[in-house]
Amino acid sequence: EAPVDAAFLRRWLDTAASVMEREASRLTELDSPIGDADHGTNMRRGFLAARTAVEQEPPQTPGGVLVLVGRTLISTVGGASGPLYGTLLRRAGKDLGEEQAVPAARLRDGLRAGVDGVAALGGAVPGDKTMLDALLPALDALTGALDAGGGAADALAAAAAAADEGAKATIPLRARKGRASYLGERSIGHQDPGATSSALLIAALADTARE
Ligand code: ADP
Ligand code: MG
Ligand code: MG
Repeated sequence: EAPVDAAFLRRWLDTAASVMEREASRLTELDSPIGDADHGTNMRRGFLAARTAVEQEPPQTPGGVLVLVGRTLISTVGGASGPLYGTLLRRAGKDLGEEQAVPAARLRDGLRAGVDGVAALGGAVPGDKTMLDALLPALDALTGALDAGGGAADALAAAAAAADEGAKATIPLRARKGRASYLGERSIGHQDPGATSSALLIAALADTARE
């Protein structure tokens, strides 16, 4: 299977930006009962800006692509999700360093470093009804599939399925971080927008690996 290189992550970014355009209204709808109805517009703005930034000065390494996307998200997306997603991708990219092409297990290690950064910055733990409730199960599924000898495409598909399940499993949870936590019990019964966008980003990774 082809290793993950800068071209792979540029294809991922193109797909992710298209998905955020297509799903923006759904993400914003999810953010309206338990937030301020901007998650879709935030993600669309950030990923379109990131795609433009990468097109203008294409980084030559996979780490470079992730760092530039993360930096662009931090500068163009306000609120909670900009710094959190920015940290995720910047950390992952820095972890990959100058490597030109990496196997899926190396990408997984980078993503784990990024997710650790999200947890450290936001202080959320599993079950708090945040993006971590999609990201952590995805990492576990990715690790399990790769350790079992699965190929990158199948392992990323397993990660995407786990992320989607994790996002859906936020519905009965009470939010303990972010704006939704201000609602207390009234946050129960709604799917978390950030967990939903995380699942979309991982699905875009799986789609890229399948192409
Ligand atoms: P804001 O809430 O500032 O308007 P967004 O609507 O773009 O930002 O993003 C909201 C999402 O951010 C939530 O659905 C949740 O998944 C995520 N989030 C908020 N706070 C945290 C946190 N402390 N840790 C992890 N994720 C968080
Ligand atoms: Mg919001
Ligand atoms: Mg906001």
